[in-house]
Amino acid sequence: MTIEVRNIVKKFGAFAALDHVDLKVPHGELMALLGPSGSGKTTLLRIIAGLDWPDSGDVSFDGENALARGAGERSVGFVFQHYALFRHMTVFENVAFGLRVQPRAVRKDEVGIRARVKELLDLVQLDWLSGRYPGQLSGGQRQRVALARALAIEPRVLLLDEPFGALDAKVRKELRTWLRSLHEEINVTSIFVTHDQEEALEVANSVVVMDKGRIEQIGTPSDVYDNPQTAFVHGFIGESIVLPVDVDDGFVRLGDTPLNIAAEHGSSGPSKLFVRRHDMQISPPGWGGLEGTVRRVRTFGPIQRADIALSGRAGETIIEIDAPRDRELRDGEVVGLQPRRYRIFADPT
Ligand code: ATP
Repeated sequence: MTIEVRNIVKKFGAFAALDHVDLKVPHGELMALLGPSGSGKTTLLRIIAGLDWPDSGDVSFDGENALARGAGERSVGFVFQHYALFRHMTVFENVAFGLRVQPRAVRKDEVGIRARVKELLDLVQLDWLSGRYPGQLSGGQRQRVALARALAIEPRVLLLDEPFGALDAKVRKELRTWLRSLHEEINVTSIFVTHDQEEALEVANSVVVMDKGRIEQIGTPSDVYDNPQTAFVHGFIGESIVLPVDVDDGFVRLGDTPLNIAAEHGSSGPSKLFVRRHDMQISPPGWGGLEGTVRRVRTFGPIQRADIALSGRAGETIIEIDAPRDRELRDGEVVGLQPRRYRIFADPT
């Protein structure tokens, strides 16, 4: 199922939670809506699900107006952050529930229901727990049951709102990999909400970055990581060092220090330089460009993370860089710094 969202506006009072949002989700996509808290991700998901209505704009499923249908008529499976399982029902009954309440015309008989539930529990690898109650399951297992239940009605769209948000880091990581392979197997158009950039980049085929009710960028995980189109996206994805710089006809300065990098030809004015922590390379001092004093070094496996106090007019500014461990950094050492990959965005503020 292809989903198309056109020019959606959703206001709560005077506040626009969604501000003219356009989005196309091709059939079979596994798409992440990524953004900070309050950026409008859940609101957008709820409108696609039919749990909420926009003030203006259109939503279509395979070219048909979805807004004319309620949530129950859109063939949508929904999974929330907090496993909304029925506590008094076994795993089996929880998954069977959706099948039992289906319209008579498509409802299966008891044998059909049993077979389908078994199939679903096999799919989420939980058949061995079918007799347990939700209270007897781990958080990760509960979320897999919730997924099996959402899939029971064979939805044409699967919507997941922070499905792993309440789980600890290790289980989250396992479930990410698992969700990806499950999606490959069932190939249902799926959209999941997350504020965790690593989760979005690792799981999704395409990532929609949102901020303040607007879409900032849509692309593959490598697109949004390697070619952030806005300052917001660069700052939100990956660990970036951000320095206020002045650009003068393409030449870049930090305070009085000229940096040996170029901005777009002809660009001028106050700007922001974005460099990922591992893209700020250590170079010998005294060659011009950025310099600083190493303040504190910690090691994390193959990398050393160092605080560096920048020298000159840029002083007082401390940046955090990640360097390989082939050359050991020492506290108090003066080093040169050279951005290997960087982006410069005009800063109108
Ligand atoms: P989070 O990651 O915290 O869930 P989100 O990106 O999903 O955030 P939304 O839940 O879509 O954000 O909310 C977007 C904005 O709309 C927020 O500022 C929120 O306070 C506001 N909002 C959402 N629902 C309502 C409501 N029912 N009434 C008033 N304001 C609301």
